[in-house]
This record gives sequence, structure tokens and C-alpha cells, in this order.
Amino acid sequence: MSDFGPRLRVNPIRCDGARYCAEIVPELVGLDEWGYPIVSSVPIENTRLLRLAERAVNECPRVALQLARLRARER
Ligand code: SF4
Repeated sequence: MSDFGPRLRVNPIRCDGARYCAEIVPELVGLDEWGYPIVSSVPIENTRLLRLAERAVNECPRVALQLARLRARER
């Protein structure tokens, strides 16, 4: 598994807890007790999950979700 693969990040300031992301890709997004997303920090290697993650990013109504890659100094 690559440490540099894309992974989801959520901006908790922007997020309104509408939960669309968890409906689109529940394999990568869980919900806390208030219904706000808890995203997996594991790099996404699976093509199907990556496509779903991209869809969740694109459909987030608050532009609160992004796919990011870690650079070497962030490891
Ligand atoms: S879809 Fe966007 S605004 Fe809604 S819970 Fe997910 S990250 Fe938050």
C-alpha cells in the first residue's frame, strides 16, 4: 500500500453534517454521534472506492470534502 495515495479530508468548519458523503461512500465515511462525517485516513487504493470518493467530493454541497495526497514531509 502506498503512503502517498489519495485520502479524504473534511473541513469541519464548512461541513453541515448533511451526510451525503456517507451515503455515497460509506466504506470511507462513518458518522459521529451527531451525524458529522469521520473520514478514513487510509490511502484509497481501490479504483471503485476512489471513483466514489471523487463523486462524494464533487457532490458535497458545502465544498467541505477534498481528496488530498500526502507529501513526503507530511508523513
Ligand atoms: S457531504 Fe459535505 S457537508 Fe455533507 S456531511 Fe459530507 S462533508 Fe459534510
